Amino acid sequence: MKKIKVKLAKNSYSILVAKLSYQEIADRISKTEFNKNLLIVADENVNSEWGEYIRKPFEGYKNKIEFYDLKAGENSKSYIELNNIYSFLIDKNFGRDTLIIAIGGGVTGDLVGYAASTFMRGIQLIHVPTTLLSAVDSSIGGKTGINFNNRKNMIGSFFQPKLVLIDTNFLSTLPQSEMISGIGEIVKYTYLSPDDFFDFAKSNLDKALLNDEEVIHEFILRSAAIKAAVVSQDGKESNLRKILNLGHTFGHAIESDLNFEIKHGQAVLSGLISALYLSNKIGILKKNRMRKLLSLPLSIKLPSKLSALDEMNMINIMQMDKKNRDGKINFVLLSEIGNILIDVQTGEKDVLDSISSMKESFKKDSL
Ligand code: NAD
Ligand code: ZN
Repeated sequence: MKKIKVKLAKNSYSILVAKLSYQEIADRISKTEFNKNLLIVADENVNSEWGEYIRKPFEGYKNKIEFYDLKAGENSKSYIELNNIYSFLIDKNFGRDTLIIAIGGGVTGDLVGYAASTFMRGIQLIHVPTTLLSAVDSSIGGKTGINFNNRKNMIGSFFQPKLVLIDTNFLSTLPQSEMISGIGEIVKYTYLSPDDFFDFAKSNLDKALLNDEEVIHEFILRSAAIKAAVVSQDGKESNLRKILNLGHTFGHAIESDLNFEIKHGQAVLSGLISALYLSNKIGILKKNRMRKLLSLPLSIKLPSKLSALDEMNMINIMQMDKKNRDGKINFVLLSEIGNILIDVQTGEKDVLDSISSMKESFKKDSL
């Protein structure tokens, strides 16, 4: 079992990574200071694949325990579903001495995290991420939230879990498209740390795409460690944490322009490609280094509908992004692996050209 620590001024916690580690969860809860009254939330897909696996460790559990089934999909990050969870907690007489366990992807984690952060001014939370994206990204760092009036993550909070338990066994049933989505974030992490992660990822990408357990395990360990280190230094996104948005200014605009018809991680991959081109166009990233760094995201097949992106509309979307002010777009760019620049503003033509370069170069899937 590998342990990564998220060190915060208050509420530090551990991320545990090991295959089959979920099986010990009931033991772990009974041996710690965690609350013993449990609400376990999972979505319908996770339940249909893992329902028994999730319940098994709690057979004969002595304290209060309830299971809550969530509809799968982004639409569950809504105040309606939030309301349902509050009502369920109240109907079943849960109090402040409750521990909620969110088992699932980022949708479950974000929604349940927000419910935990607000119910009775905050109850305990454990994340058990079951997608690659949630294992390396959304379960770490304490961002929770729901969507509102069609706007993503408009309502939310920073709320740290007591524990993140990554049981890689769950990933064995994850669809290939969801694996690629997680790999999008992992490619981002390879640019953030000055070690050999990029080379490791490049030489093991094919194995990862075939769901090779050892490679995926290593990808998770290295990525989670990077996110944990960044979050430990900047809990609430004042500055350093902005480096985690590499590829995301473009990525969010790409998702939005394509009406969210592609996966987040696929948008991040195309966003990373665009950000590398932009870094080169404004003269901070040398061409030969750009080519090398592009070789990783350019070797992953992406939806051919990216060719239909409307560059001008993307610029409009980026100007309206809640992270930007006065119509100026703040990019996160890079001059070298581990050397990230935040709040970079550039000329509009360079941005348009970078999107065009991405559209011309990404590896198209056959769909
Ligand atoms: P998701 O939770 O919708 O999961 C993707 C799909 O996989 C769903 O259909 C789900 O039912 C299914 N699934 C989950 N685990 C499975 C398993 N083991 N086997 C089979 N199917 C499984 O999506 P996601 O990609 O995990 O997360 C995306 C969400 O995360 C977005 O809402 C995004 O805004 C949020 N997010 C939050 C943060 C943060 O810091 N809080 C960071 C990144 C993303
Ligand atoms: Zn992301």
